Amino acid sequence: MSNHYLSQKIINWQEEFGRNHLPWQKNRSVYTTLVSELMLQQTQVTTMRPYYQNFIDHWPTIDSLKKASLDQVMQAWSGLGYYRRAQYLKKTVDYLPDDQSQQQFNIQDWMKFPGIGRSTAGAIGSLALKKPWPILDGNVKRVFSRLFKLQHPINSTLGLKLLWNIAADCMPTLQPDRYNQGLMDLGSMICTPINPKCKQCPCNDLCLAFRDDTVQSYPITVKKNKPIPIKKWDLVLLIEEKSFFLEKRAKKNLWGNLYCPLILQESQTNDYLSTINLNSTSKLHQFKHLFTHFKLEANVYSVAIKNKQYLKLPTGKWVTNWHGLALAKPIKDCLENIFLS
Ligand code: SF4
Repeated sequence: MSNHYLSQKIINWQEEFGRNHLPWQKNRSVYTTLVSELMLQQTQVTTMRPYYQNFIDHWPTIDSLKKASLDQVMQAWSGLGYYRRAQYLKKTVDYLPDDQSQQQFNIQDWMKFPGIGRSTAGAIGSLALKKPWPILDGNVKRVFSRLFKLQHPINSTLGLKLLWNIAADCMPTLQPDRYNQGLMDLGSMICTPINPKCKQCPCNDLCLAFRDDTVQSYPITVKKNKPIPIKKWDLVLLIEEKSFFLEKRAKKNLWGNLYCPLILQESQTNDYLSTINLNSTSKLHQFKHLFTHFKLEANVYSVAIKNKQYLKLPTGKWVTNWHGLALAKPIKDCLENIFLS
């Protein structure tokens, strides 16, 4: 397969049929690429698009984001999930040097920033700075695995290494931005996980899986059969008159830097409640939430206390509503369910 022929086909197709009007493609810069790429990790375009717009409306430049507090950034990210990305973005922007120095960066320099792996660095370099750096997001892995009939699982170390080799071999030096955008568009619009539109694909004359009518056999993946663990937590909402307490979660914890009722392991709740002077407790709500590595089953209790002065509490706030606070989506949904239903 001629790699030049392949890349040229993708470039030509992108120009005519690809996505060229996404908000972050207007006035493309390192900053807009950084924000959009971090928001797109693990998240669909349609979900992140309003968050992106709101974020850029608030902080249109690197300098404006440098001046923002982490709390403000977390609040703008509230509901989008995978909150470490917001912390990484803020940290990266805080340490980002001027435009000229960015131009001198190689891919390893970009990968030293938190949350920026090889593919994100490749996207920043190619899309914003027109460097011939490959990318390998989930869509691109699928496209390459079908085009080349990759016989190794794409989620294995060897499979990934081979995919990076393919990505590097196919990378053109001219128009790397359009080529990488084309690969992403192809994966998202044509070479979809199910029912790929092979007849409309610009690469179907080169695709080995299409040639052999084995498209549905690729990509090969290693099945992970380990059952996902379940964690049972109690969320305790301490209430005094009209105010309630929300803890600001420690940075290293789940939902770090976000506000949340007190979180206790189910087995600790009674012990905890026996240490405080309370009027009453009642169960308000329960919910389940699936994280990448575990499933959460949560019960939410209100605990009316007698005097907050004598309580020993972690960092947090007594509030009368949660507006303007950075909250994880399940917590926001939970509070809405309790107070607005
Ligand atoms: S021909 Fe089909 S399987 Fe092959 S790259 Fe195109 S859409 Fe994907």
